[in-house]
Amino acid sequence: MRNESSKILIVGGGFGGLFTALDLSGAGEVTLINDQDHFLFKPMLYEYLSGEVEAWHIAPDCKELLNDQAKFIRDAVTNIDLDSQTVSLETHRETLSYEILVFAPGAVTNYAGVSGAEQFALPFRTIDDANRLRRRMTDALDRVQPDAAPQDTRSALTFAVVGGGASGVELSTKMADLLRDAVKRRALRGEPRVVIVEMADRLVPGMGEEIRKFVEGALDQSRVEAYTDTRVVNVTKDSITLEHQEQRTELSTSAVVWVAGVRPNPLIQHLELETDRRGLLLVERTLQAKGHPNVFTLGDVAFYPDVAPTLAGTAQLALQQAHLCAQNIRAFIDGRELKSKHFAELGEAVSLGTEHAAVLTGGKVIGGPLARQARFAMYTARLPTWHHRLRVGASWFFEGTQPRPLQPLGF
Ligand SMILES: Cc1cc2nc3c(=O)[nH]c(=O)nc-3n(C[C@H](O)[C@H](O)[C@H](O)COP(=O)(O)OP(=O)(O)OC[C@H]3O[C@@H](n4cnc5c(N)ncnc54)[C@H](O)[C@@H]3O)c2cc1C
Repeated sequence: MRNESSKILIVGGGFGGLFTALDLSGAGEVTLINDQDHFLFKPMLYEYLSGEVEAWHIAPDCKELLNDQAKFIRDAVTNIDLDSQTVSLETHRETLSYEILVFAPGAVTNYAGVSGAEQFALPFRTIDDANRLRRRMTDALDRVQPDAAPQDTRSALTFAVVGGGASGVELSTKMADLLRDAVKRRALRGEPRVVIVEMADRLVPGMGEEIRKFVEGALDQSRVEAYTDTRVVNVTKDSITLEHQEQRTELSTSAVVWVAGVRPNPLIQHLELETDRRGLLLVERTLQAKGHPNVFTLGDVAFYPDVAPTLAGTAQLALQQAHLCAQNIRAFIDGRELKSKHFAELGEAVSLGTEHAAVLTGGKVIGGPLARQARFAMYTARLPTWHHRLRVGASWFFEGTQPRPLQPLGF
């Protein structure tokens, strides 16, 4: 299919889609469609919540990143017709046609049908989600009277994080540190209460023992209350009901944040392609959709057969797949043989509260403030484009990465 101007449409401007577009520079007529105007480096959304990083660091503008290497359309894709090779958009009237499609719209929060969860729990996947949560924390602080008794402070500042994976740990320790700092700054009596709820019998079940020690230490230090073997049965505007060994307990909450799991983007249903039992698209080792050689799919929507088990549903995987995807699209256009790859773990890094992290690299784990610096360095290297990396790296190095306190009353 030798064609200098093959029409390549990319759906989704996240780790899979954006990095594919950047790597495809000059390969054809590339158009990236994303429903946000920015890319989001999600692994640092916790640092955005705490004000350690700013929006421009982790959510750079797609158009600026692409810098004429590809056309950018900000819109939501509503349908894909594989027979006519067209894509429909929410606001653009005309459909767009393609010769090659890259499908990478990521995942959405999975509330698992828990009563009230979708309506009342806050998701944590976007800049807006983080802004909303930060506002909830500030609003809750504002409601605490300066002379409140310690138990009233604790009750007004009770937050629940549902999901005891890495996300839940990172989020709960950040929230606890931010709230405790704010309580101190406002000279309130008492302590905030952050609880983390997990259905399994332990937190971060997929993590190795070495890194787990740091995680448990950080939860203790941030005084996060962990409830394992515990199911959420109901969420309301201001409460959560937990069930442990058939006993139910209702807690009043200022917010419940839901990071208990994801499911593939529902856009997948329009494709009528083969999926596994979790609804992930089955893809060939070349990233081509089964039976559709001109459709490449990657990231959180795809089940790739040759991956280290810990990598499933991660940015690390989507990023590595993007490089293979671009390489294979070039080969497809040139009529060359497509490649496959085994995707391996590049190292783990979890932020723990506002001052620490734990980083697993080369089989060794380091923790504490040094690990926090290492995490920043590691993630600088994974940001899109050299230009952006340099700007952000310089900003973190020269201006620092201290958390921004939740504003004291009256500010
Ligand atoms: C808070 C958080 C922290 C995380 N931390 C880590 C971590 O530390 N390490 C790690 O490896 N992974 C982490 N992950 C997981 C990682 O971010 C995902 O696995 C990765 O982003 C998947 O890449 P993707 O390209 O498939 O999807 P995404 O990066 O989510 O990109 C999908 C894009 O498609 C857009 N989109 C969706 N629907 C449409 C539509 N209909 N039309 C147009 N555009 C659409 C979305 O807005 C988004 O921009 C984290 C995820 C979250 C939410």
